[in-house]
Amino acid sequence: MQNPKTLWIKQPLATLDPACAGGLVVEGSNIIELLALGQLPSRPVDEVFDAGRHVLLPGLVNAHHHFYQTLTRAHPVALNKALFSWLTSLYPVWARLQPEMVAVSTQIALAELLLSGCTTASDHHYLFPQGLEEAIDLQLEQARRLGVRVHLTRGSMSLGRDQGGLPPQSTVQSEEIILADSERLIRRYHDPADGAMSRVALAPCSPFSVSTELMKASAVLAEQHDVQLHTHLAETHDETEFCLNMFGMRPVDYLESVGWLSGRVWLAHGIHFNEEEILRLGRAGVGIAHCPSSNMLLASGICPTLELEAAGCPVGIGVDGSASNDGSNMIMEVRQALLLQRLRYGARRITHQQVLDWATRGSAACLGRHDIGEIAVGKQADLALFTLDDIQFAGAGDPLAALVLCGARRADKVMVAGRWRVIDGAICGLDIEALKARQRELSVLLR
Ligand SMILES: [Zn+2]
Repeated sequence: MQNPKTLWIKQPLATLDPACAGGLVVEGSNIIELLALGQLPSRPVDEVFDAGRHVLLPGLVNAHHHFYQTLTRAHPVALNKALFSWLTSLYPVWARLQPEMVAVSTQIALAELLLSGCTTASDHHYLFPQGLEEAIDLQLEQARRLGVRVHLTRGSMSLGRDQGGLPPQSTVQSEEIILADSERLIRRYHDPADGAMSRVALAPCSPFSVSTELMKASAVLAEQHDVQLHTHLAETHDETEFCLNMFGMRPVDYLESVGWLSGRVWLAHGIHFNEEEILRLGRAGVGIAHCPSSNMLLASGICPTLELEAAGCPVGIGVDGSASNDGSNMIMEVRQALLLQRLRYGARRITHQQVLDWATRGSAACLGRHDIGEIAVGKQADLALFTLDDIQFAGAGDPLAALVLCGARRADKVMVAGRWRVIDGAICGLDIEALKARQRELSVLLR
């Protein structure tokens, strides 16, 4: 479908930002004008989309995921386990990943995210068994097909069981191979420009699966190429114990000792910090991807979001890998964040606007992006529009609150970089039934 030169998305039913109550004008991939209620565009537009039935949000930004795990949702070996035993049950299964599995599971995850209003997705892929050396290349190809903006992180595991780590030896790579491939991927796919559709970050998997040398070398490489760093940190008490035993220090001290306390870092989970650690993370501007469903499912704990934010950390939201969620639905994750964070902070401090802000502007800040995550002039036209037609909204009062409180599941229209990628609840140009069928066939091979 040919996109119009200028498009007025007219008078949405509700928005996160009252400054665009009259809608907005998109030209090319950018937002060029915001309109107050009743205001007309300053010059004639080529096309008008009447959003009178739609709640308009900035496209949601997913700050942490493992696309491949959609193949092992609700896997029988991993049920009812906490993180370390969950991981050791699944590592041998994941070691059998094949190239087509990565391609198909990436499409599934991105499709699920798009349909839930997500326009930018980060992924943390850290499995490169023999034959799967080009996993990130495969992911990028699928992201381009679907038109989703991606931040693909080159994950890594170098500390196998033989060296006191958690993953089996067959799933780890040498530091030389990891660093050389990281550099290759940055050169090939990292676009530092505004409006970038793909960026690359470096992401050693966790303190318990990579060597100290690799953490340090990754920080140096990230500095050289001006890319971001990502890892899992402070997810469980087991991890704190591991760090104390292995390195003689707590996770944040370890992070600092390897040169990772910096504004180019964002962490998945970030649960078990003390007050002093939170202040240090905030001073450094380290971002935190809060993953509420995963944290509840694995009984890991509750992220201290408000203290982290007050200290200076950007806070975003991630669905986390779909074997610990076990879904990739971003708007549902926003609701989970509201529910879980209310248990910690009470109803008055955690509002629907707050959690939507985390899932948009907050996640974008975690990814080091200033061109996405909000509806403003000059930003990318990444938009998610939801109707309130489904049965769970019948009787709802406040339309914006209803998205979160009634449990929205699916966007009606999604735009990425000025192009419609979801229309009437369906992804443009994707045979989703065929995709689901192939994913089911492939997942059976991993049981
Ligand atoms: Zn994760």
